[in-house]
Amino acid sequence: MVYDFSKLFKDAENILEEFIDKYTTYCLLSKDDDENSRLHVSYYKNIIKTICARFEEEQLLEQFELLAKHQISSDAHYIVIANEINNLKNVLINKIDKNSINSNFADLFQLFNNIYNKVASVYLQEYASNLKLTNNVRISSLSDLMEKNILAHYESHLVWLSNLADCINNKNVDNFPELDSTMCNFGTWLHDDGKRIIQNNSKYNTIVNMHNTLHLFAKKIRSNISTQEDRVIITYLEKCEMLSLSIGTELALIDNILMNNKVIKDPLTNALNRHSLKNIFKNQYELSMATSNPFILAMCDLDDFKTINDTYGHLFGDRVLVHFVEIVKKNIRNSDIIIRYGGEEFVIMLPAIGKDRGLAVLEKIRKDFYDNFLEIDNKAVQHSVSIGFVEVTPQIHYKQHFLDDYIGAADQKLYSAKHNGRNRIEHC
Ligand code: GH3
Ligand code: MG
Ligand code: MG
Repeated sequence: MVYDFSKLFKDAENILEEFIDKYTTYCLLSKDDDENSRLHVSYYKNIIKTICARFEEEQLLEQFELLAKHQISSDAHYIVIANEINNLKNVLINKIDKNSINSNFADLFQLFNNIYNKVASVYLQEYASNLKLTNNVRISSLSDLMEKNILAHYESHLVWLSNLADCINNKNVDNFPELDSTMCNFGTWLHDDGKRIIQNNSKYNTIVNMHNTLHLFAKKIRSNISTQEDRVIITYLEKCEMLSLSIGTELALIDNILMNNKVIKDPLTNALNRHSLKNIFKNQYELSMATSNPFILAMCDLDDFKTINDTYGHLFGDRVLVHFVEIVKKNIRNSDIIIRYGGEEFVIMLPAIGKDRGLAVLEKIRKDFYDNFLEIDNKAVQHSVSIGFVEVTPQIHYKQHFLDDYIGAADQKLYSAKHNGRNRIEHC
């Protein structure tokens, strides 16, 4: 079909301006001058130029296809691109003289409907194939774990999700993954052994609810595949991936609690033993990769500890070490990790949180340790800790030197904290 809006829309530059202005209010299309935003705007420039002249529908749809692929490669959610198209449609409609009832409205509505469908179909294909690829990376991260505990079941769930993506890609409803949430591999475990292992009831219920919702969404996807409702399928599939990652995050935290109870402890402080550091770090890295979460690695070193030992004796020094670990444990989740790295040095790992929340937790520890000093012979002894930390965001598969690299980076920040006056936190 050929459209000719050249008499209707005369000034492409002006339409683009207005469109971008409308957008920035909603913070969707940024005016930033980076390469990505420039590219984003240039796609719309071409699209609007085309709409302002005589054009074949196919030609315009191809331009939207390029735009959609660009948006997906920048990790934009479908709702963002759908909203952009809607805004463009509104800008154009407002340019049509409302008093002259003519076929322009109908043409424009029909055209935009086809655009929505085209973009949805491109987006869905790309999203489902990307999901399969990233999911396979997640699965291989989990299969690299030394000891999987309950995560072996999450691995089977990821396989289920990959099958779902595959069926969507191939528009195939025949080999659809199990839709009953109590019958899939993960669900069978969750409703049997899982119930026994996940002892925290509210956590268990949260996981069961998320898993049920996930299966409900998979059912919706299945019924929409036959009606070709790509827009609806995308929304459900995006939600399925998010729910799936949340289930993985919860399971990884529970797995840490199990590990915390099992690994050998330092006899003085009851922190985990340094010998387990290598394996625990690798595990956290793989889990982070599998659940698309960052985690925090912190190095803590008690301040002027030699002076405390020299002044009040080694036994009092020991009490301070025990006290520090107690303060840390009071302020972290039982899925977080504290390892005695050496003398008065400790490593803390906070899974599934980023820099800001990590800093807040560590700051509470620093302050709590400083405020709650111990006494000896009715005399208060001030003590403090310096902390350096890094946020670990896994992008590639684990390599052996990563532990040394990240410890080195956290150590450098710890050195800065000492250099800048102690009793403080520095991070990358
Ligand atoms: P800074 O603020 O620069 O960290 O100074 P610092 O005095 O803490 O640093 P340094 O590394 O010189 O001293 C650490 C001290 O910790 C020396 C060592 O005797 C003591 N230490 C190591 N392990 C233990 C332990 O298990 N118990 C006690 N009481 N002291 C220990
Ligand atoms: Mg030290
Ligand atoms: Mg010290």
